[in-house]
Amino acid sequence: MREYRRRIIAFVRIIPVTIAGLLVIAFGWAHAAEELKHGIIRIPVLNYHSIGVEPGNTYVLHPDDFARQMAYLAAQHYTPLTLADFARVLAKELPSPQKPVLLTFDDGYADNAEAALPILRQHGFPATLFLSPGAVGQPGYVSWPQVQELSAAGWDIEPHGMTHPHLPQLTKKQQREEITESRRWIEQKLGKRAAAFAYPYGEYNADTLKILRDAGFQWGFTTQEGWATSAQSPYERSRLVVRSEDSFETWKQRLSVP
Ligand SMILES: [Zn+2]
Repeated sequence: MREYRRRIIAFVRIIPVTIAGLLVIAFGWAHAAEELKHGIIRIPVLNYHSIGVEPGNTYVLHPDDFARQMAYLAAQHYTPLTLADFARVLAKELPSPQKPVLLTFDDGYADNAEAALPILRQHGFPATLFLSPGAVGQPGYVSWPQVQELSAAGWDIEPHGMTHPHLPQLTKKQQREEITESRRWIEQKLGKRAAAFAYPYGEYNADTLKILRDAGFQWGFTTQEGWATSAQSPYERSRLVVRSEDSFETWKQRLSVP
């Protein structure tokens, strides 16, 4: 009898803990669903440039550091997205994976194909390259066959201006030429549609935004520090520019705090 009572008491004691646990889970689900329906979606967009060895150059990240960052994303179960899925998640057309991230590269350095691609392949991660077609084939930059290799590996190749100009210093006509020509080259060489644009030097003005809209672009990426959110204009998505002098801890911090 005593044994029986002890069991009853033990069972009764477990009930509130169980109920609390179920409530936490239910609340978590409800919260996630609510966030998806009405809340703001936030996704970190990492912005890389060159992956190579050039100490002191903020835009050249050592391949070992890049490999360490990608290994961290894999170990922490991050999901690097394609550009299309990134857009669908932000538009709330697709449920967000638990830890979404968009990996972007600017300018089109040859080491993107030679150093970054093999590392991303190891993890099966897609990426987005914002390419200035005017630089293709120049020393240090990708060739068209390399661009095709990246595209075939699942990278989204998107325009970044023909000659990487300071757009606000140009006339509206010159801006339109830079923007639409860079897209035309990419679409022609790859036979795929391109609908995103990254502003060279992160610089743009009202003319730039109007040109993108009128030309049927869907997304624009800045170098404004911060996460991309569903509350931002589709033409002004923030990014986290990865700097070679930042410590691994700093990089992790920027990635984990919106
Ligand atoms: Zn650039």
